Amino acid sequence: MARYRDAVCRLCRREGVKLFLKGRRCLTDKCALEKRNFAPGEQGKARRPKLVGYGLQLREKQKVRRLYGILEDQFRSYFEKAAAMKGITGENLLRLLELRLDNAVYRLGLATSRAEARQLVRHGHIRVAGRKVNIPSYQVAPGQEVAVREASRNSPTIQRALDLTGGRGIPPWLELDQTNKKGRVISLPKREDVNFPIQEQMIVELYSK
Ligand code: SF4
Repeated sequence: MARYRDAVCRLCRREGVKLFLKGRRCLTDKCALEKRNFAPGEQGKARRPKLVGYGLQLREKQKVRRLYGILEDQFRSYFEKAAAMKGITGENLLRLLELRLDNAVYRLGLATSRAEARQLVRHGHIRVAGRKVNIPSYQVAPGQEVAVREASRNSPTIQRALDLTGGRGIPPWLELDQTNKKGRVISLPKREDVNFPIQEQMIVELYSK
């Protein structure tokens, strides 16, 4: 699947917020946004324009799409699925995004970024309910175990990620067995479990035009 391959720090600078796309670097003073908190490009240093209406909704959608590392078409199909579900569309959308396997691996602290988590999944290091799953968009479900496969348990990359993210806090819908490098989905994620400032209603308004 095609992915965004430009310098990812530009995405944070474009959105004016840390999207934590580069793992450990995001937690250091090497973070590009700490040093250059203005939009990339020729006009970047000009004051960020005050956005209203469509502009604001578009930026909110782009921010969330980039946070989860999803391309436009797939993001829209998540929205359509969320709109067809019972309940509040914006909350459904966030739940679908949180339940992606790559996000679950990241939220368990087995990877330092969602991109790194995606790599782990793609390369077959992750098992769900005992089966190899190498599809990052796979939707995990309550009751399922998400585990590093046995042959990869001693991976220094995964151990370093756990060492770094150990204090990050596992969201209440997941539980982690750090010793055995595995976790479990214990419930569906709730709105308050998404620990990032998101105004999902703006995305709903954007796509509902
Ligand atoms: Fe964003 Fe991380 Fe780059 Fe900072 S280091 S700008 S948080 S991707």
